[in-house]
Amino acid sequence: MSKITNPLQVRAVRAFTDNYIWLIAAPTAPQTVIAVDPGDAAPVAAELERSGLSLAAILLTHHHADHIGGVAALQARGSVPVIGPDDARISLLTRSVHDGERVDFEDLGLRFEVLAVPGHTTSHIAFWGHDALFCGDTLFSAGCGRLFEGTATEMNHSLQRLAALPGHTRVYCGHEYTAANLSFALAVEPGNAAALEYRDTVALRRAADLPSLPSSLALERDVNPFLRCAHGPVRAAAEQHAGAALGDDTAVFAALRGWKDGFRA
Ligand SMILES: [Zn+2]
Repeated sequence: MSKITNPLQVRAVRAFTDNYIWLIAAPTAPQTVIAVDPGDAAPVAAELERSGLSLAAILLTHHHADHIGGVAALQARGSVPVIGPDDARISLLTRSVHDGERVDFEDLGLRFEVLAVPGHTTSHIAFWGHDALFCGDTLFSAGCGRLFEGTATEMNHSLQRLAALPGHTRVYCGHEYTAANLSFALAVEPGNAAALEYRDTVALRRAADLPSLPSSLALERDVNPFLRCAHGPVRAAAEQHAGAALGDDTAVFAALRGWKDGFRA
């Protein structure tokens, strides 16, 4: 008999142009939610009021304003724990967490493990638990975050770490970038059947104004070029674009990241 699990109930709140603020419903109290990366308070407050939800805590993945900008205004509605990375640029934390730490909300039936995933920023973290991954701007569906502070070595290592989590893990990223990322993924691997099929699925969802997310890690391992640096065709495409042989997988990753930075679909 297969094990039946109740997936975590997570709502997407849209903010700015393409950000997602995730509201995780507590299994023991479904009208109570934890917000991930509330860059803007207004759409979160509107969703709380519209759906009769109460906010129990805030999780932050990194210090960028479009991920933390709403914290002060949400705290003004009622003080809640604010948990995020140890970084002086985030002034409103009530608890800073490090790699391997557990964040346990016992009354809510929620528990996450903290994963340090430097690269997009030096102190970026992800929260993993209940077969779900909240990874901010580190892993995007079919892509990854830009290297604003970290090195290619760090980011590649962070992505490999996330990719090694179970394949059924649902991936909740910070932005709706999937369609554009797939254009790049297919420039790298034009013959990737999984990416071609996913492009059609995403186009239908976006045409219906639905989020492409969550993705799954199994799907990302099949379609995301940044998780496929060890794959022959990805290396060959990166080397052709670079016009030179590349060394280890990190060199392939760095070449892909540089190629994507200048890529226009
Ligand atoms: Zn960011």
